[in-house]
Amino acid sequence: MCGIVGYIGTKRAVPILLDGLKKLEYRGYDSAGISTLENNSLSCIKEKGRVDQLKNLVDNENLNGTIGIAHTRWATHGKPNKINSHPHFDNSKRFSVVHNGIIENYTDIKKFLMDNGYQFLSETDTEVIPNLINYYYEINHDFLKAVSLACNDLIGSYAIEVICSNFSNKMIIAKKDSPLVIGIADDGYYIASDIPAILSYTKNFYILEDNEIAELTLNEIKFYKNNLELVHKELETITWDASAIEKNGYDDFMLKEIYEQVTSIRETIGCKLNKSLIELDNIQFTKDFLSNINKIFIVACGTAMHAGLAVKSIFEKLCYIPVEVDMASEFRYRNPLVDNKTLAIFISQSGETADTIQALKLAKSKGATTLAISNVIGSSITREADIYIYTHAGPEIAVASTKAYTAQVVLLNIIALYCAQILETISLDEIELLKKEILSLPTKIELALKDISMVQNIAKKIYNAKDIFFLGRGIDYPVAMEGSLKLKEISYIHSEAYAGGELKHGPIALIEKDFPVIGILTDEKLLEKSISNIQEVISRGAKTIIVTNQELKKDFDYVIKIPNIHPYFSPILSVIPLQLLAYYISKEKGLDVDKPRNLAKSVTVE
Ligand code: GLU
Repeated sequence: MCGIVGYIGTKRAVPILLDGLKKLEYRGYDSAGISTLENNSLSCIKEKGRVDQLKNLVDNENLNGTIGIAHTRWATHGKPNKINSHPHFDNSKRFSVVHNGIIENYTDIKKFLMDNGYQFLSETDTEVIPNLINYYYEINHDFLKAVSLACNDLIGSYAIEVICSNFSNKMIIAKKDSPLVIGIADDGYYIASDIPAILSYTKNFYILEDNEIAELTLNEIKFYKNNLELVHKELETITWDASAIEKNGYDDFMLKEIYEQVTSIRETIGCKLNKSLIELDNIQFTKDFLSNINKIFIVACGTAMHAGLAVKSIFEKLCYIPVEVDMASEFRYRNPLVDNKTLAIFISQSGETADTIQALKLAKSKGATTLAISNVIGSSITREADIYIYTHAGPEIAVASTKAYTAQVVLLNIIALYCAQILETISLDEIELLKKEILSLPTKIELALKDISMVQNIAKKIYNAKDIFFLGRGIDYPVAMEGSLKLKEISYIHSEAYAGGELKHGPIALIEKDFPVIGILTDEKLLEKSISNIQEVISRGAKTIIVTNQELKKDFDYVIKIPNIHPYFSPILSVIPLQLLAYYISKEKGLDVDKPRNLAKSVTVE
């Protein structure tokens, strides 16, 4: 998920690798490491912390190799510490590997390798890769073949660089669902997970595609498909400027992260739904334990709290346990009714949100079982909680959360389904159906992001508005709240979210001609009621914008269609046009989308 750099050429590798890692720092990371190859001997220096710390360690060593690989890690499996940092070696210390991504079937591969005598030092998914390569190398003594066979066994995402002590002039790289580019210069080949890391050395690049392998020697590069069929590639000359490339061609990190939701949801689902029974990495609830739980609290702040609200009714429907969602800052001071029959779930993207950590400590002291959901491995909240589980959204740089939010909603849904499976409160057939719907999410998100011209057009029409209302009923209400929060955060337009039925009890007094009202209408059962609420504002002159997956007969000013999905999961799709709308309104106003005023990414004050 973070950064890779590599070099094979005639210059000393270390300065090039460190320089590349520095340029990748913007992506966020928790540890860094480097491995060079010199006279058939592999070095490895790695540490938790910043690239500057790594540089101090590397400066003390005399590493003169002209081949090397380097990595910044953003932990997904195992805490950020030295042992889990990359590069990783195989047991015989023949191969050194850096990896970005997640190997979803690493437990199966690890078991297979352990049955074959391999031992593991780290908690990472990555460590299976050098060992699997070595396993095949022991059989066929062919470096390239060993990497290709290993890649064929990997499920998940990977960008890897491999060097081997038996080959003093070779590096093999491969990728699937994680980027890797190769720059060509007179002195050699520069490899990186994105172009800016090596743009100062060359403007000529090969872009590696999914399921491709490149074999690099000092003066030759060959490309193959995973089955070792040769591939011909055209060299591309880059004309973009470095800052555009950092954002992968997007204008802002927020837009990039909105589009990354296809991958972040796929990675958060991971292998959890692959087997007939749902399996979660760190959670092993028993029927006895869950039957004893008479209340679930979901406690968080801001967007993360909206994720809780989006899943509350599903949890209740699936598990027959009452669920209360609360703001961490309120929960702490209201003496909540928590005891040892409470399951308390705490959500924080960064895992460092001060209010949420304090709320967790309180629930724990009152005897609740605490479960933390965070996007950052080893974060404070996961250390405090009895149990933790991670979203795999990757680093989120824009202050306004998008991909972390949808990953939280998906993960909470999976947890709800998992609890229902243990409690046997729904049939296996129903579980199967819901699993299929969750698995269809990445493709449907891709569809929802395909044509956004309508959203861009609406943004142009309403960016001058002083107030905007968001309306929704049932499952659409929390989405209205999240849409409204996103808009406030980055456009500074005043907005409110209301449950459709509440409008007539006060807020409707504010509606006047051309007042923009955004209605979310995905719940078929509540459709007529929701349409009536919208009708009430139309009669008072409002401009209506509808986000829906239903066929609507009535006339509204704008209708944004989203793909159809089981009503439980519609919040994951219906929020996407609202994220985009907030984004484009902010752009129309010429604001700094990624760094809105007065806000911080990680709120570590109470
Ligand atoms: N999944 C790997 C780990 O946790 C790689 C993480 C990354 O892409 O930085 O070590």
